[in-house]
Amino acid sequence: MRLLVVEDEKDMNRLIVKTLQQAGYTVDSCLDGLEAMDYLDSADYDGLILDVMLPGKNGHEIITSLRQKKNALPVLFLSARDSVADRIEGLDLGADDYLVKPFDFDELLARIRAMTRKYTPVKSTLLSLGDLSLDTKTHAVTRAGKEIRLSAKEYSILEYMLRNQGVVLSRERLENSMWNFDYSGGSNVVDVYISYLRKKVDEGFDKKLIHTVRGAGWVLKEETP
Ligand code: CA
Repeated sequence: MRLLVVEDEKDMNRLIVKTLQQAGYTVDSCLDGLEAMDYLDSADYDGLILDVMLPGKNGHEIITSLRQKKNALPVLFLSARDSVADRIEGLDLGADDYLVKPFDFDELLARIRAMTRKYTPVKSTLLSLGDLSLDTKTHAVTRAGKEIRLSAKEYSILEYMLRNQGVVLSRERLENSMWNFDYSGGSNVVDVYISYLRKKVDEGFDKKLIHTVRGAGWVLKEETP
């Protein structure tokens, strides 16, 4: 999952980014509102962590412009202002959640999990398909009850595929969701990770879950294509 962090306090920005990266998210970050609009125009994010008071364009202006464009991106506001009126204003403008500074980083992570799972059918930390299951909180992955050990990137791709099971995912879409703008790698890096995942998830099982759709990408589903 790829997140954008917009926070103009440099140390706070760095801390949030570090915490999110350690939790396995792909993260882009910036320090002002105008730059945030550029990021939002250039990539598809799964969630936005947005400070309210920002130079350039403030958090309320950013979310207003997103919602006017019918963009349903999950948004979590961060703000030093803790008055009830401010929180109501943020939520009324279309924020999914609101966290008042100073906050606990474990709570930030829990709220991000809650906000991003609204788009999956079951409100739990477990994602599954057939006998494959993945826990977004502990990052434990099992198939038929047996633990599968994955690298951070493998985990991240599998989580994305589980959230989008049944959907054909192109190389470009997977790349965009897995790597931030700092990344520059070979063009077939997604293919390489998919082949690692195949070995770990499907090898030794009659029922394959990862399927190639020629010329289009890959799809995670139970039946054969
Ligand atoms: Ca600020």
